Amino acid sequence: MVGRQLAKRMRMALAAIVGLSLGVAAPAVADGEVNIYSYRQPFLIKPMLNAFTQQTGIKANVVFAPKGMIERLKREGRNSPADMILTVDIGRINDAVEADVLQPVKSKKLLANIPSHDRDPSGLWYALTRRARVVYASRERVKPGDLSTYEALADPKWKGRICIRSSQHVYNVALLASLVAHHGEARAEEWAKGLKANLARKPQGNDRAQVKAIFAGECDISLGNSYYMGNMLTNEKQIAWAESVFVFFPNQQGRGAHMNISGAGVTKHAGRKENALKLLEFLSDDLAQKMYAEQNFEYPVKPGVPWSGLVESWGRFKADTIDMTKVARNRAAAIRIFDRVGIP
Ligand code: FE
Repeated sequence: MVGRQLAKRMRMALAAIVGLSLGVAAPAVADGEVNIYSYRQPFLIKPMLNAFTQQTGIKANVVFAPKGMIERLKREGRNSPADMILTVDIGRINDAVEADVLQPVKSKKLLANIPSHDRDPSGLWYALTRRARVVYASRERVKPGDLSTYEALADPKWKGRICIRSSQHVYNVALLASLVAHHGEARAEEWAKGLKANLARKPQGNDRAQVKAIFAGECDISLGNSYYMGNMLTNEKQIAWAESVFVFFPNQQGRGAHMNISGAGVTKHAGRKENALKLLEFLSDDLAQKMYAEQNFEYPVKPGVPWSGLVESWGRFKADTIDMTKVARNRAAAIRIFDRVGIP
């Protein structure tokens, strides 16, 4: 009876949140459901969740939580209706690990579908998609032969020619964390100093705003996540920005381009752990992987799943396969370095 009341309370809590964010009511049946808190936008994940429901009969309720998701999970504790979180960036995933809001899960299918460098060794989280942090370069003012590695972006030949978003943004922190992991803190700091000296302007805007700046002639190269090329090419107002640049994958003679991930984990107090695991397996498998890749122009984590045609057109490339937990471990050092060097 108590369990039933609790389930009802959780349903009501979820209905309130879902109702607020998506304008829909939670379904009446508690069995055969799974509740997700998502940093990812509903339009990106809805098609996959619908396919999951079709295949399993399990209803997937999603609460879009762009901010404060971890704080909410902590506050709700055992009463949280959430069974799973979906988020982007190794930093945000690591925050969830450190906040102790996840529980380990494992299955043969997950281990087979997701390479070991893209998941937590104990099963607290699994990557579901990958994105490369690439160089966007002016078609007019830069030749592919001028570019080589992330390290070479500190070369004085780029003085006044590079645009980036805030150094404190999770994407740039992860990139520098990977440099710390590969070279140590001292060399990573030297690199950051070189990068700072080459900036065309104070870091501002998002990844796409840097490409816009290249289009406007304010700088010649920038750093950005690969899927933004797809986003810009399918956005009428941004096609011109995209067409003014080409995508360059750095470090192809060495370790490969820096990759970041989107990922998922089962919450510590999941009331429907079995269903959450089923959903996680579904999202790691061929159908969902292909849909994911098409939806947001990302790279599937499961080897052998086809890329979207547009993503394929930027070319196959060598990806850095450093363990993402190592990148996570060096985030704090990366933030300190950007602070010391004084890149805003
Ligand atoms: Fe993004």
